[in-house]
Amino acid sequence: MNPKDANATRPAPAGAGQALLDWSRRKVDYLRISITDRCNERCLYCMPQGLKDWKEHDEILSYEEVLRVVRIAVALGFSKFRITGGEPLVRRDAVLFLEQLGQVPGIRSLGLSTNATLLAPVARRLQQAGIDSVNVSLDTLDAAEYQRITLKDLASAVAGIDAAVAAGFPKIKLNAVLMRGKSETQLLPLLDFARERGAYLRFIELMPLTTTQVLTRENFLPAEEARRAISESIPLERAEDVRLGHGPAVYYRTPTGQLVGFIGAMTDLHFCDACNKIRLTSDGKIRPCLGNHLEFDLKSILRGGGSDDDVADLFRRTLGLKPAEHEFRGQYRPGRSMTAIGG
Ligand code: SAM
Ligand code: SF4
Repeated sequence: MNPKDANATRPAPAGAGQALLDWSRRKVDYLRISITDRCNERCLYCMPQGLKDWKEHDEILSYEEVLRVVRIAVALGFSKFRITGGEPLVRRDAVLFLEQLGQVPGIRSLGLSTNATLLAPVARRLQQAGIDSVNVSLDTLDAAEYQRITLKDLASAVAGIDAAVAAGFPKIKLNAVLMRGKSETQLLPLLDFARERGAYLRFIELMPLTTTQVLTRENFLPAEEARRAISESIPLERAEDVRLGHGPAVYYRTPTGQLVGFIGAMTDLHFCDACNKIRLTSDGKIRPCLGNHLEFDLKSILRGGGSDDDVADLFRRTLGLKPAEHEFRGQYRPGRSMTAIGG
């Protein structure tokens, strides 16, 4: 039995299921947790090449610390969790940890974000652990281009995606970061690839979250431009009814019923209106917004003998100060890269 089915019959902690609102009355019930800042890939929009300032192991929250935080968050009203990184599957015993996480009562949705290169051998175990949503980075199906973007090989990622499909995860999403000069030829092949596997495809605008030279005006490809390019070959109809996971993607439907999402983080002026998530970085900081440098130090509470109430108070304080919108459109300068924050 899927552990989350068992959870449905277990008493949920006090507070679980209650709506948690931020200061502007946005419902926040989603905690995205990075368990490592390391990765086996080097995506040029994510991890600055030559990056060396990895966190030491003792700076990273232990699995026990993360599990404690999750239990407290569930009691507060969080019900959706996603494990990310860096690449979560490079951390030792990540699968064992995910199995333990799947047992925590009160979790309604448990997701994993991965580049899929290490997924194939563990996909079935993860599905049995109760993970219901797997997000995979896949920017191109051109093997040489994949190698240039990630410094890894496409075949291992495709093997991981196919293993996830075979394992039967309820939801598999493929995320492609849009880059001018790289993405245009990939829009339709990625659509076909996703359709053949019953996966959802989302195109994401490049965000200023790395310190490399990639973040130029010339490299930026707006989501709307990608949508129009697809529409020239395949009619797309806005799927107003669809909000998978209540995330920020805007979905369109093809005539065959396939859904394709566009995440216009830079160009959609209402992007932040329904933001329902906050992040926990691998080094123990709560980050209320990806595009704002504000962070709250949870690790010092966890390691300084803080009580569960102290942890809960920090969550409440974070919600009281969650920015109304990200600062990417202003003079935002990346502080920490996506792999350090947790994508
Ligand atoms: N390693 C896993 C993966 O690649 O899916 C999880 C972590 S990764 C940081 C999470 C997501 O962030 C990926 O879909 C990746 O494409 C996206 N991402 C990283 N840097 C980005 C950037 N500068 N702009 C937009 N999306 C980015
Ligand atoms: Fe690694 Fe994911 Fe960042 Fe690529 S996007 S470098 S796979 S963390």
